Amino acid sequence: MDKPKSLGSNPEEVKSELARRAELISTRLKRTIEFANKLGKRGRQLKEAAEYYIAKSFWLNWRAIAALTGPSMDYLTPLDGRIMSFREFITEWVGAQFKRQLEDYGIELPWYWKYWEEETKWWHHSFELGIYLWRRTLNIHNRGPTPEERRWLEEKYPGWEENFGRYWDLYAKNYIEGRPPLPKTAPLLCNMCQVPLISIKPGRHVVIYQKEINGRVYNFCSPVCMWIFEQEVERYKGHMTYVDRMAAMKIKLSPEALTNIERLWDEIIWNMGFTEAGEAGLDPTNGAWALLYKEKDPEYQKRIAKWMEA
Ligand SMILES: [Zn+2]
Repeated sequence: MDKPKSLGSNPEEVKSELARRAELISTRLKRTIEFANKLGKRGRQLKEAAEYYIAKSFWLNWRAIAALTGPSMDYLTPLDGRIMSFREFITEWVGAQFKRQLEDYGIELPWYWKYWEEETKWWHHSFELGIYLWRRTLNIHNRGPTPEERRWLEEKYPGWEENFGRYWDLYAKNYIEGRPPLPKTAPLLCNMCQVPLISIKPGRHVVIYQKEINGRVYNFCSPVCMWIFEQEVERYKGHMTYVDRMAAMKIKLSPEALTNIERLWDEIIWNMGFTEAGEAGLDPTNGAWALLYKEKDPEYQKRIAKWMEA
């Protein structure tokens, strides 16, 4: 699987990389739709099963794309290389194409379509906040947005400052005060898509979708992941996420790790196989993006005062 990284350094490179990704996704979805369509011709029950697989396939593809391409496009690609936002890409180049493919076969859109359209406005911003904070657990280098990039984000995603900018300001504040932001806990992972439940949504409603089966509580990132799980409970109910295994003490940790958070994070990272220096994710700018706020953003102090008050 590709890692989130810059899509290129100029608009031509970015455009051809995006075209390549859109083509890959469309081809994959098209195959699912064609197969499902063939299956659906054999009877009503199979038609329902086929529609379920289409809905499931689109959703899980979306999660992977949002996690990989979302941060690449809106955070890691240099500003002068950006040709559109991730939301524009995903709705125009992927969603519209998928919709047309379904229409061609007379298949209805998945039930969650409206919810999906809403998620394209915020999910990957929430995810980026999370992968930045938990960067050591991924072998991906990551950095925060500069003041100029934030203006672009607010323009492309009205309300971004209010919903997500405040967290970057607080990360920046920590850096400026000599405390690089690092997590204090392990994130919950979705029991369906395995992606961390960051759950910072517009309006700051923290919503985790939960379901209890035989005394075990399962957590989901969205009503859609919960719905997929419910369709195939037998298939998925025994699976444990990395964090589930950690909580169940199935991951070997030293006694010291249980009392020392720094040591705990080191051991988790070694356990994940990132043993060599440089494999675990870093901020390659070492927080330089945060210092730009202090030096170049006259609004920064005012915003900090406002967020601290809230
Ligand atoms: Zn999920």
